[in-house]
Amino acid sequence: YSKSKGKSQFVRYNDKLGEYVFSQADMINQLRIAIERNEFVVYFQPIVCAKAEKISGYEALVRWIHPHRGMISPGQFIPIAEASGQMIEIEQLIIEECFKNLKLLISLNPEMKYVSINLSARGIIERNIVKFLENLLLKYNLDPKFIEFEVTESSLLNNIERTVEVLDRIKEMGFKLSLDDFGTGFSSLNYLKNLPLDKVKLDKSFIDNIETDERDHLMVKSIIELSHRLGLLVVGEGVETKNQRDLLYILECDFIQGFYYGRPEPIAN
Ligand code: C2E
Ligand code: MG
Ligand code: MG
Ligand code: MG
Repeated sequence: YSKSKGKSQFVRYNDKLGEYVFSQADMINQLRIAIERNEFVVYFQPIVCAKAEKISGYEALVRWIHPHRGMISPGQFIPIAEASGQMIEIEQLIIEECFKNLKLLISLNPEMKYVSINLSARGIIERNIVKFLENLLLKYNLDPKFIEFEVTESSLLNNIERTVEVLDRIKEMGFKLSLDDFGTGFSSLNYLKNLPLDKVKLDKSFIDNIETDERDHLMVKSIIELSHRLGLLVVGEGVETKNQRDLLYILECDFIQGFYYGRPEPIAN
């Protein structure tokens, strides 16, 4: 579908998609209000231990609940928020929401070990990120071992030196770190070697055809072996079928995330 861009302040209703299509300018205005009112809600998707088939942790996935237009997915607004410089503020709201909810999540599921939070490119190199996280740990009296941050390869392309420096600090503080959407970037292996990672999240695009495509199967097998040799744990993303799950289990993938085990959902209260 074509996104309406440019000067139009009007919002069109796209019948096919059943959703409103914002113009870019309108989106930026609406985001400003959304930040003021904190219209962002964090959904949590289970990440399951492949062997025990028990919930190991949750990934925090943001949704924007617009008062008139309903739920807007991150794919629709994050690229615009990043371009407009609004992502830092949104991300800080999300991170605080996760810290605030952690004890509730643990009380609902005492076996869970972490919440995993996506960190944007700009968020990592934001000057105050370390101080911000230190303050939040104190405010909510949390142990950082319960929190992971996910960074994507594409988010690391700019300012790699500064990025590594901040990620090292974040690790020193006791947080865990995973490389998201692994295999979709340009220098995946370089990042495996140079970043202070705990986990690798194998992108859904490798998993989709793992049952039928011998090459995908071989790639997944090799990536898991390589990761393990480097002392990293592996999460398979976007697992939708039992067969995909079983194949990953046989290949010794450590964790499984996907609709097969559960969709992202808000905390019931
Ligand atoms: P991601 O971090 O790779 O998150 C996984 C995405 O795959 C999520 O989409 C999740 O709902 C979806 N997913 C999980 N399992 C399955 C499955 O079995 N099948 C299918 N078809 N999809 C599955 P979502 O929630 O729309 O988020 C999209 C992306 O937006 C995320 O990709 C992440 O890059 C970004 N994002 C989401 N929340 C945040 C956030 O709080 N901060 C930042 N910086 N980025 C976020
Ligand atoms: Mg992620
Ligand atoms: Mg991912
Ligand atoms: Mg992804």
